[in-house]
Amino acid sequence: MKFIRIALVATLFILSACKSEETITQKRPQKVILLIGDGTGLAQVSTAFYFKETSPNYGRFKHLGLIKTSSSQQDITDSAAAGTAFACGIKTYNGAIGVADDSTKVKNIVEIISSKNIKSGLISTSSITHATPASFYAHVLRRGYEEDIASDFVESDVDFIAGGGINFFNKREDGRDLLAELAQKNFEIDTTAIGDFSTIQSSSKVAYLLAENHMPPAAEGRGGFLANATELAIQFLGKDESDFFMMVEGSQVDWGGHANNGDYLVSELIDFDDAIGKALDYAEQDGNTLVIVTADHETGGLTLSSTLKKTEEGREYSDYDDIDLTFSTSGHSATLVPVFAYGPGAEEFAGIYENTEIFEKILKLTEWRGEGE
Ligand SMILES: [Zn+2]
Repeated sequence: MKFIRIALVATLFILSACKSEETITQKRPQKVILLIGDGTGLAQVSTAFYFKETSPNYGRFKHLGLIKTSSSQQDITDSAAAGTAFACGIKTYNGAIGVADDSTKVKNIVEIISSKNIKSGLISTSSITHATPASFYAHVLRRGYEEDIASDFVESDVDFIAGGGINFFNKREDGRDLLAELAQKNFEIDTTAIGDFSTIQSSSKVAYLLAENHMPPAAEGRGGFLANATELAIQFLGKDESDFFMMVEGSQVDWGGHANNGDYLVSELIDFDDAIGKALDYAEQDGNTLVIVTADHETGGLTLSSTLKKTEEGREYSDYDDIDLTFSTSGHSATLVPVFAYGPGAEEFAGIYENTEIFEKILKLTEWRGEGE
C-alpha cells in the first residue's frame, strides 16, 4: 500500500511538472506592443547605456535577435519598405507603403486582426502619415503621397492614434475635411494634448493629432509625449481585457542620424527608451503581453568611438574615457539591427532572420491569422 501511494504521488508530481512546462511554452500572447526605433541600430541603443542617467529599459530584455533589413530591390532599405515588411510580411521596393513590387495591395496586420474585432493603436513622433505608421493602415505606391495616406486612414479600422500630421487631414488639395469625417466615424479627436484615460474611457475611437506635420523634437518641447501616449493607449486598448496590437515609433532617432547630430540622436533614443519602459511595466504585471522592440534600419553609420585629443606636447591620442559619437554617412546603412522581446513567445525572436519574420512570428504566436490568410 505504501509503495502504491509513493508511486501515485510520484506520478502526480511528474504529470504536474509536465503540465506546468507545457503552459509556459505554449502560452499565447494576447496583446502585442511593437516598438520601432527608426534608424536605431546597436550603436544607437548602446548610447542609452552611456548617456541615460537612469538604468536603460533596453537592459530589461532577456531574449535578443538580429534582423536583416534589405528591401526587395536594394541592400539598404528605407522606412517605407521596412515598415511594410513589419506590417504586411513582404519585401517590397523602397518608398512602397503596403503594396508589393507589382503594385498590388497587401493586407496588413491591422486589417487581418480588425476582421476579428481585435483593436489596434499607432503612435509616432512624426506625422502619423509618415512611412512607418502609414505602413500599418495605408496602401500607396509612394510614401510621399501623404494626403492619400490620410484618406486611407479614414477607411482603416485603427482605434487609437497619437502623433502629428493635422495638415494632411484638413488642409488638403481636394478640400476634404478628414477630421470631420473621422468624427462621423465615432472618433474622439484632440488636437491640443494627450489627455487622461478618464476623458476617453467611454470613447470607441481616439485620435490625438498634435502637430501640423511632425511632432517637435524631444529637446524642443515634446515633453513626455511618447511615453504618455504609450501608457494611455495601453489603458485604452486594454480596457476590455481583450486582445490588442499597438505599434509605437520613435521616429526621430533616424533624423538625429541623418543630421549626424549626436545630441539630437541621444535625446530621442532616451525618449524612446522611456516608452519601452511603459510597455514593459504593463507586460510584467499583465503576463499575457508580448513586447517587441526593434528598428527598421540603422541610420548614420554611427560608432561610439574614442575622442581624439592632443597632449600638451601636441601628440595625438585616443581618450578611451571620452566617447565621441562619429558617423560614416548621412543616410541609412545595411547593418543588421537588433530585436528585443519580452513576454509569452519572446524566445521565438532569438536568432538571425529577415525583417518580414517579425510579422510572421506575431501572427503565429497570437493565432490571430485565420485559415488562408
Ligand atoms: Zn531615415
